[in-house]
Amino acid sequence: MSRSAEIMRRARELFPGGVNSPVRAFRGVEGEPFVVARGQGARIWDVDGKEYIDYVLSWGPLVLGHAAPPVLEALGRAMQEGTSFGIPTELEVRLGEAVRARMPHVEMMRFVSSGTEATMSAVRLARAFTGRDAIVKFDGCYHGHADSFLVRAGSGVATLGLPNSPGVPEALASLTLTAPFNDADAVRAIFTARREEIAAIIVEPVVGNAGLILPDPGFLAALRAIASEHGALLIFDEVMTGFRVAPGGAAERYAVTPDLTTLGKVIGGGLPVAAYGGRREIMERVAPDGPVYQAGTLSGNPLAMAAGLATLDALTPAVHAAMEACTARLVQGLREIAQRRRVPFTAAHAGTMWGFFFRDEPVRSYADAKTADVARFRRFFHAALLRGVYLAPSAFEAGFMSAAHREPEIDLTLDRLDAALAAAG
Ligand code: PLP
Repeated sequence: MSRSAEIMRRARELFPGGVNSPVRAFRGVEGEPFVVARGQGARIWDVDGKEYIDYVLSWGPLVLGHAAPPVLEALGRAMQEGTSFGIPTELEVRLGEAVRARMPHVEMMRFVSSGTEATMSAVRLARAFTGRDAIVKFDGCYHGHADSFLVRAGSGVATLGLPNSPGVPEALASLTLTAPFNDADAVRAIFTARREEIAAIIVEPVVGNAGLILPDPGFLAALRAIASEHGALLIFDEVMTGFRVAPGGAAERYAVTPDLTTLGKVIGGGLPVAAYGGRREIMERVAPDGPVYQAGTLSGNPLAMAAGLATLDALTPAVHAAMEACTARLVQGLREIAQRRRVPFTAAHAGTMWGFFFRDEPVRSYADAKTADVARFRRFFHAALLRGVYLAPSAFEAGFMSAAHREPEIDLTLDRLDAALAAAG
């Protein structure tokens, strides 16, 4: 028995599915997860010593790669001063300023520890600000596991084929109205029917939780116009897209300004940080300035702030441009491989997020994504893993790029994936 298999056997005694977040169990690819020992740059090694080029990168946060020196140095320095205080620190202010410098529409913010906390709190705030209870979300968009969002959520929920989660009260689920992504008319129809009830539209501006789906030109601007017209707030969930699709996130890339923004992943550089923020008049409703309660023992934790700050500081426009060029090279290389091997294939990228589907037509919605050849994806995933390329273990997840992935890693990846596609058929 491999060491991975032995550790997973013990893990399954302790944790549901042997994991502490469902997608890690490899159910989407009908496989057995490996157990990781360490990471360096673009690569990880499992406990049996096998090496992989990693395109999951802790599901997005590690934009500088594993064990990035600036992050380790910042952590080392911060750690010497103590690991947690629950008292304001300058590091929080510095990270807040770094976020606002890149996203000026995030005038005020609140740090939390997970993307779920950020989106949950943003919706509470939107409800309080507008005095309305309903929200609009999109099929296949995942916004964390708070009750209001486990309605037609993508990602792990899609991987496991769960429509809505048991345990979410019907009364709450009925306040989450859903529309297909890239269908502004469907959103208009919902507002026509229920305009007085809708507090917010929440959207992943580039969907990363149903595979990667790009917004059609004008779609995000249409959402902006609809929300403004009806007195609802527009929330961009930039937990995944923030600092990835452009230095200033999707708001910068698509030139659409939301009222509230949620951030996570990259903002913590691999430590637990997330945030929600936006217009000052809205954020001033948050306690203690306002009545909307939200708190956290470890919010603004100094180690997490230090890792986030080191990451954002290192992520210069030049680094971002180099990463985007590598992402484009990978995606174009994959297209060429698939074409040569006559495999139905469509791929896309936005900044340093990328994705592909085994289907001929581009994917514009979750309904489209579901028509892709998932069986072929499973075969391809395992063939890639065997050859030392770790892709997300689900057909409904995005891929990521880091600054540690350079042209040699990309070309090696393409060679391995070419062989993997040949083997997967
Ligand atoms: N929002 C988006 C767009 C996400 O991709 C995720 C997680 O993948 C979340 C929210 C939830 O973040 P977390 O897993 O940190 O709770």
